[in-house]
Amino acid sequence: MTPDDRIYAYSAVLMGSPILLKLFEHNESLASRVFRLIKLQENTFTVNRSHSDIMAINHAAGRDAVTVSAPVFDLISRAKVVSCLPDSSFNFTIGPLVKRWKIGFSGSSVPDAQDLQTLLALTDPEDVILDEQNRSVFLLKAGMEIDLGAIAKGYIADIVRDFLQEQQVENALINLGGNVQTLGTSAEGAWGIGLKKPFSEPDALIGVIHVTGKSVVTSGIYERYFELAGRCYHHILDPKTGYPLDNELLSVTIISDDSIDGDIYTTLLYGMGVEKSLKYLQQHPHIEAIFVTRDRQVICSSQRQFRFTPLDGSYRTLSY
Ligand code: AMP
Ligand code: MG
Repeated sequence: MTPDDRIYAYSAVLMGSPILLKLFEHNESLASRVFRLIKLQENTFTVNRSHSDIMAINHAAGRDAVTVSAPVFDLISRAKVVSCLPDSSFNFTIGPLVKRWKIGFSGSSVPDAQDLQTLLALTDPEDVILDEQNRSVFLLKAGMEIDLGAIAKGYIADIVRDFLQEQQVENALINLGGNVQTLGTSAEGAWGIGLKKPFSEPDALIGVIHVTGKSVVTSGIYERYFELAGRCYHHILDPKTGYPLDNELLSVTIISDDSIDGDIYTTLLYGMGVEKSLKYLQQHPHIEAIFVTRDRQVICSSQRQFRFTPLDGSYRTLSY
């Protein structure tokens, strides 16, 4: 029996993404409970259906405060803090711009500058009024929309990890459409998570990231985009300009304990670019990162929490 024979993989499509669960035992019932848990969370956070806690807040924009459950209130509070950081490229009120661009959905098009200015006025995170006492959320202006798309998968990946730990599972992997959270090790030692080669076939890898009990989250401009007149418009928007973020980066991967940190920091560091991010990481040792640049460099932070094995000779790997 090879080590891989001991691993059982379960898959589903939820949150519009392929979901993969790897366990060390054949346990159909545990896998269904995990998928049910994810579905339940999806129903709370989605903005792609008419009903969810988040949609209730968005529908009441400019009109009413909406009381939400404690976990939803906490997640929104966290998203507001990160969005209000000076020069933050993370903005959870980006909804009106995301809806206008429709990147990755049919009908996507480049908005005109006037449109963008009008919509940018609806994306000030300070205009989200949080009342801790009543656990209510009020969007000050009509037309404002919260979008937790950049944070929800990480948050849910951590919930799945916590659930599996409660079930005494020691080794497992959950991949929520690119947000990976792991418990313990795989059969062969550290879990190996592929770093995708940008704009290539889905299984083409630049290398493998090895971790034990860590989260690995990647945000890349090649994940969702459309092309027009030779330009590529991808799904991570710059909250200052309203256009997709544009710098030397093709992807940012974060290695951390919690997947929610990974999800937040991929967007934050994406906006900072490599040089500023590397300085930032020195002050924040609980997270680590791998940057893939347009000029084919793979730039790794100090590799205390992971090990990177390069597989593609056309990329140059640098370590800091
Ligand atoms: P992720 O896959 O975690 O990189 O998140 C991407 C999703 O977050 C997009 O599809 C949008 O729904 C949303 N989004 C886009 N730009 C931003 C931004 N600057 N800040 C927060 N969320 C964003
Ligand atoms: Mg994210």
